[in-house]
Amino acid sequence: MRIGHGYDVHAFGPGSQVVLGGVKIPHTHSLIAHSDGDVVIHSLVDAILGALCLGDIGTHFPDTASSNKDLNSRMFLKYAADMMSSKKYVLGNADITVIAETPSLAPHNFSMRECLAKDLSSNLNQISVKATTSERLGFIGRGEGIGCHSVVILVPR
Ligand code: ZN
Repeated sequence: MRIGHGYDVHAFGPGSQVVLGGVKIPHTHSLIAHSDGDVVIHSLVDAILGALCLGDIGTHFPDTASSNKDLNSRMFLKYAADMMSSKKYVLGNADITVIAETPSLAPHNFSMRECLAKDLSSNLNQISVKATTSERLGFIGRGEGIGCHSVVILVPR
């Protein structure tokens, strides 16, 4: 078995929705990024690539490449799933913790898990998404952005 951890953060900027776990969520701001700013998928991809010892998302998708501009992050996740498969591993399970003061993620939890499970050819009971706040402390606490930690375990196919 192989374990991996990923962490990502993006700052809020002008906009009317955030994309988290592949789900579009209406909000007072958007997340600034080269792609769609999906911190959930970015941290999950980093966890999978980390477990495979294949570097991180920036190694595979440089933010200097114009082809990655405004990209739907689900493409990154499908890429990570392909890498996992080509190395003959499958996802054991993933545990994801989103850190955000706003928006409230509870109403979107199921949709996020559904979306991630689909892209990883997994079942819902293999994908956990939890959300917490930063108790108003630090940059996330001041509502300046959203962070996310992901941990995965991969098992030989
Ligand atoms: Zn990111």
